[in-house]
Amino acid sequence: MFRNFKTVNRIIFGRGCFNQLADILADQRTSARPAIVFVVDDVFKNKPLQSRLPLKAHDLLLWVNVDHEPKTAYVDQLTDQVRNVMRERNQDLPAGVIGIGGGSTMDLSKAISLMLTNPGSSADYQGWDLIKTPAVYHAAIPTLSGTGAEVSRTTVLTGPEKKLGINSDYTVFDQVILDPELIADAPREQRFYTGMDCYIHCIESLTGTYLNTFSQAYGEKALDLCREVFLQDDPDSDDKLMMASFFGGMSIAYSQVGVCHALSYGLAFVLGVHHGIGNSIVFDYLEAFYPEGVTEFRRMLKKQNIQLPRGLTANASDAQIEKMVDVALILTPLWENALGKEWQKTMTRERIRELYRMM
Ligand code: NAD
Ligand code: ZN
Repeated sequence: MFRNFKTVNRIIFGRGCFNQLADILADQRTSARPAIVFVVDDVFKNKPLQSRLPLKAHDLLLWVNVDHEPKTAYVDQLTDQVRNVMRERNQDLPAGVIGIGGGSTMDLSKAISLMLTNPGSSADYQGWDLIKTPAVYHAAIPTLSGTGAEVSRTTVLTGPEKKLGINSDYTVFDQVILDPELIADAPREQRFYTGMDCYIHCIESLTGTYLNTFSQAYGEKALDLCREVFLQDDPDSDDKLMMASFFGGMSIAYSQVGVCHALSYGLAFVLGVHHGIGNSIVFDYLEAFYPEGVTEFRRMLKKQNIQLPRGLTANASDAQIEKMVDVALILTPLWENALGKEWQKTMTRERIRELYRMM
């Protein structure tokens, strides 16, 4: 069976294109549903971006905090907040939900837009194709590039049981606004780590057993762009990183990620390590799986003058390590992509445990 891949409906790209947001949203507002919900990373509170938000009287501005990666409980709380306001106003739903921030904020906005039309808790939908009703219109405006969350069919959430996305066609954004000016002021290290998420997407996609020409075409271009951004001093690096993220996301959408992502999910679930930095920490130990990628990654670290944290699991208990192994092992498609159908023969609990103990 070939996957019938759902893509983002509309994309606008270019420095300053954020200024067109009001016009784009005007097309979505109706008299019955006039409100737009802005889900904005609270790092922009009282920053110039705040005054540029095209807010109308009916709109809701939700400042979200992403010190921790998105949790299902947080999604449920934010969704209730929107529902309550809508109920008070005798409106059924908002006209749209707009996520402005990095991968975490974009994922929160995706999840809220889905949960506004689907009953229960977001934790009930962690998995594949469990969402039954389309989301409300939702759009993304990245302020950090690398995760590919702007293009993917998932919103990655940490629930009571697992860190797993709500994967569905309805998760995909209706619109993305790619304005490279918005990523220009991201903190240097954060920009690097999130950028490495993209680099690792490319390596895992391009070396995986699920590779096909579709994924290869996007993955190779994204990889070239990552090299220009992180190994050269490129004046257009914001534009290039933004497109690398998008293309890297397109590449994995039709293939899969691999060993690094599987292990990084375990670190995130048990120790709360964020995705970009977690991937970078893990990748440095994966020479056996991705020899050329790891060598080049180390050149990027050096060129960008980044010191990776060490000794993350030094104080982890056996129970914590076992939980990390459990979380990593759930991710069958990732292992299968990386190591083939017989992956369980080479990737034992013991081997994963050893890898975690090294970090
Ligand atoms: P993030 O959204 O977690 O943000 C990291 C930090 O950077 C935060 O402190 C944030 O406030 C800050 N920040 C963001 N933009 C900024 C800017 N322009 N200036 C200053 N500070 C800024 O980081 P991320 O790496 O983009 O996203 C990671 C998240 O994305 C994880 O939760 C991960 O699970 C998720 N993810 C999702 C997908 C997907 O397909 N949905 C793919 C990969 C990762
Ligand atoms: Zn990733």
